[in-house]
Order: sequence, then structure tokens, then C-alpha cells
Amino acid sequence: MIELRLLGTKCNIGCQYCYQNPLRNSGNGNSTYDLEKVFRILDDTGEPFILWGGEPLLLNIIDLEKVLSFGFERFGENNLLTNGILITEKHFDLFKKYNVNIGLSIDGPDELNDVRWAGTVERTREYTRIANENLVKLLQSDIATGLNFQITKCNSSPERISRMFDWLSSLDQLGLTTARIHVLEVDYSEKLKNHAFSTEENIVAFRQYKHFEKQLNNVRFDLFDNMRSQLLALEQPEDCVWSACDAYTTEAVSGIDGQGRKNNCGNTDKEGINFQKPRKQGYERYLALYHVPDKYGGCQNCRFFLQCKGQCPGTAKDGDWRNKSENCALFKVLFEEIEQEIVSEGITPISLHPNRKFWEKKLLDQWADGKNPPLYSLINN
Ligand code: SF4
Ligand code: SF4
Repeated sequence: MIELRLLGTKCNIGCQYCYQNPLRNSGNGNSTYDLEKVFRILDDTGEPFILWGGEPLLLNIIDLEKVLSFGFERFGENNLLTNGILITEKHFDLFKKYNVNIGLSIDGPDELNDVRWAGTVERTREYTRIANENLVKLLQSDIATGLNFQITKCNSSPERISRMFDWLSSLDQLGLTTARIHVLEVDYSEKLKNHAFSTEENIVAFRQYKHFEKQLNNVRFDLFDNMRSQLLALEQPEDCVWSACDAYTTEAVSGIDGQGRKNNCGNTDKEGINFQKPRKQGYERYLALYHVPDKYGGCQNCRFFLQCKGQCPGTAKDGDWRNKSENCALFKVLFEEIEQEIVSEGITPISLHPNRKFWEKKLLDQWADGKNPPLYSLINN
């Protein structure tokens, strides 16, 4: 799916943990756009898109309608990711008219969302109140809406996590079905480290979310489903982080800016340079991680390598895409837990399968040949 970033990184908040901050701070987040040019490029690619920001609802309502009408005509639906603060009645009408699927990013109610700092306590809480009201209204209006949130000390510390669960339960009752949970990334700011859990604390918190999910009727946390799906070699999850992503081409994510230029997923833009998209992928990171021992930052002998592959290069240790993810220890614990669940169902997960080494060899050969097959096709072929 294409991330359509008409306004570059322009945003009404600019959260302190936003992965676009290096681009924003370097002044490389161009916010001018030429709709005719962009529509021509989108027609050439023929791929569906998601309206992305910064904050896409900063777009004036007339141009927003032109984009949504274009998307609806081509694909019968639209997708849009927002912080939920700028949604007006007119937006609700457009969302219904042009079949818009909304992703709304908010980390909880009231002070639980404070890490999404908007400059002052008053403004932060007011924005949180508005975004929460809009989230409820979207769910009540039957507009397809998913939730994105970060797990932080602010919303998931032992004294606060039950409030977070109450909030999620209320959204569950309103019909929320999907929630994407993220580890808080702190690589842009020393200040953020105060809000982030240590690895051990993250393990405790994520396991709590995993167990809490069982109490919900509708909501699924996609992280756990995607891990399970990888352990069973089912269809490739939508979430790109398990896909052996090349940091310089970010195969799963193609951005198109307001001038119709193609660029990469911003998660790897640690230096604030919005690299243009090269044509050819390389899988050197994955070939190297497979062979490098754990004590030197690699994934050697990890039985979850076929599933995880060192995970997203945007979360690599020390901000260096060549390393494995800084969240390795967390993923290992979660994979182990889900692996055991699968075993208890009488199924052998890929991680414990006698053919695992053979499949790993096949995948390495494919990468060396410049190909990156999804796990299910590698195994089923
Ligand atoms: S850098 Fe990470 S988030 Fe971006 S496309 Fe690659 S795997 Fe996905
Ligand atoms: S769990 Fe850790 S060691 Fe295993 S593949 Fe993932 S990042 Fe590498």
C-alpha cells in the first residue's frame, strides 16, 4: 500500500516520539502538493493508498474530497491515518460517502496519553479529550476504525494499566476490532527514555496485554496474531516488520509525496534524509544477521529467525539498520509463549519443525539471489 504524504511531515502535534521528527527537524518534510501530478503517478502505479501525514486532516476539505473521490472511484474505498483531533462533522460525511477506513493513533484516555505531548498540559489533555470523543463517534457511526497505540510507562505502568484495560474494554464494547500496539521508540530523544519501559518491564506489560486480549469480545492486538501466523507459516501478515525489509528500499512501504516523488518508509530516516526509492532490493542485513552470533548483535541459531528475521530495520539497535531489533528479547519471549500455545493445540510450529534448517537455507539462497519470498510460499513450495 502506498503512503500518500501530500503535506509531508506537517502535523498539528508533532508528538515527541514521532519517527518523522528527524525529517521534520531537518526541514526536509516538503508540504507543497500538486494534485494533478499526484493523481497521474497514482494511476501509473495502480496501487491503493493510505492518506498519511504528518496529519492528513490538515488538508483543506475541498482537496481532501478530491483525493477521497479519486480513491473511491479507483478502489471503492479509502484509508487514512489520523491523530483524530481535527475531525469535524464534514469529515464524518466524507468518511461515509467515500468509504474511508480510519486508523486512529492515541495512547489512552486523559493523562495516559500525555506522552503525545502537545506543548502544554492543558492543550495535551484537551486534544486527548477531542480525539477520544471522535474515536467513540467513529465507532458509533460504523466507520471502519482501527486503533494504534504505544506502550509507555504513562499508560501501562502497574498503577495505570487497569485504566488502560478499562478504556480498551469500553472500545471493545463499541465494536473496535483491531489495535496495533507498538514498543515506544526512544532513539530521537533523551527525554523520552523516562517514558519508556526497560526490556524486562516491556516483557511484563506486553504479556499482560496478551492475556487481557482473551477477555475482549472483538479487539485483537495484531502483534500477537501476526506472530502466530508467522509461526504457522500462514499468509504473510500485513504488518511489514516481519518481512525482511531492506532499509534502503522498504519494499512493503512506498511513499508518494505532494510532488509525486516516490520515497521510502520514514522509519529508517534516522538522519532526516528522505531518500528516493531505488529499484533494486538488497538483503545483506538478513544474510549477515543469520550468521552473526548473539553476543555481536546478530540472530545466529535463533529458532525464530524464519519468522522474525531481526525485525524492522527502523527499530535496529543503536539506530543502525544493520543490527537486529533492539526489541529482540521481548519478541523472543512472546514467540516462545505463542509457540507453546501452538504445541498445546497439537500442532508443530515452524520454529520446532524438523525441516527448519532446510527452510532457512532455502531462504538464504533466495536472499542471495535478490528475492524475498513470503514464508508461506517458501514453505508451501
Ligand atoms: S522500515 Fe520497518 S516499518 Fe518501514 S517498511 Fe521496513 S519493516 Fe516496515
Ligand atoms: S527474536 Fe531476536 S535473535 Fe531471533 S530473529 Fe528476532 S531479533 Fe533475531
